[in-house]
Amino acid sequence: MTIGILGGGQLGYMLALAGYPLGLHFRFLDPSPEAPVGRIAQRVTAEYADEEALEKFSSGLELVTYEFENVPVRAARCLAKHVPVYPPPSALEAAQDRLHEKNLFQKLKIATTSFAAVNKPTELDVAVNKIGLPAVLKTRRMGYDGKGQWVLRTSDDVAAVRKNLPDAGLILENFVAFERELSILAVRGRSGETAFYPLVENRHRGGILRLSIAPAPKLSKALQEAGEQAAQRILQDLNYVGVLAIEFFECNGELVANEMAPRVHNSGHWSIEGAATSQFENHLRAVLGMPLGSTATPGVSAMLNLIGDVPEASEILAIPDAHLHLYGKSPRPGRKVGHVTLRAANLEELKGKLDELPGFFRRDEFCLPSKPIAISC
Ligand code: AMP
Repeated sequence: MTIGILGGGQLGYMLALAGYPLGLHFRFLDPSPEAPVGRIAQRVTAEYADEEALEKFSSGLELVTYEFENVPVRAARCLAKHVPVYPPPSALEAAQDRLHEKNLFQKLKIATTSFAAVNKPTELDVAVNKIGLPAVLKTRRMGYDGKGQWVLRTSDDVAAVRKNLPDAGLILENFVAFERELSILAVRGRSGETAFYPLVENRHRGGILRLSIAPAPKLSKALQEAGEQAAQRILQDLNYVGVLAIEFFECNGELVANEMAPRVHNSGHWSIEGAATSQFENHLRAVLGMPLGSTATPGVSAMLNLIGDVPEASEILAIPDAHLHLYGKSPRPGRKVGHVTLRAANLEELKGKLDELPGFFRRDEFCLPSKPIAISC
């Protein structure tokens, strides 16, 4: 049985690694001839807009899924004429536009920050008057890892950004003075069965995820229930199939939804070793209509992204229950080239293991308990 995957980056790489023990085969489509999955699976190099290539790609596939949320919706719809596509292309559409995403949160009564659309430069001042400062201006589409974002603290910042406004739809959001950032990974199967991983605490720097701690320290039952309820509403509304990630800010003990990703997610990588069933395996089980696996989490995990460069492998592997994942990408500043997961029985033990990490890692990123790192744009 061969599964088609749109996008050939590290998420696809880890999906394939989770699928091989289940007897699955994979075929990837990615515009880049350097996509890392080429090392381990069949890779078709073609543009997502090339409908002829898409049709050829789909031949003989059981179904198609994606590991990249900026796949053009048109490509997903085109493939859906030939083969089942999960998650549904409508979920891709909702998640690709920050304005649609926030409207969906509001419709489903999921708390989110106040926001206003900025469709043209003249609308910026109206939006600033409505939302107030500080605020974050974001491109509605194609933003990731903090790209396409400007923090506006003063009227001078507004004047400066006005001079260089990108020619794209924008959204202005109230700046949330959050205590910490959390995310939930949820999964829904073809039968409607759902499962949820525990909320995870995430630390970012420069808009890029550096560290996830799973489960989030001091996670209350009420907060977990709130995360699951928000996820359940989205899964149901979109008739979703597969893994869905939702990122939140925690403010005064409440969750404020920031964004969602209709795919496996960087903040779920810890689940490979830290949960009974990884997010990758559960995504495959869901899209194939198989029973979902347990999301039970024995102990705690920390996942650290390797960004730009790779530390000495033996220094990582000398730490008990440390797991190294390298994606086969050439090192480049700001590029995610791998990750490390540390597992421990409890937070105290995890702290000890984080202390053992080599100097390659920035200590201020993983002081426990939570200490949020403000974004710098
Ligand atoms: P995003 O691309 O929306 O995930 O934003 C990247 C990072 O910017 C987030 O992880 C937050 O650290 C920060 N950020 C985004 N939106 C806001 C906001 N409205 N208020 C405060 N910080 C934000």
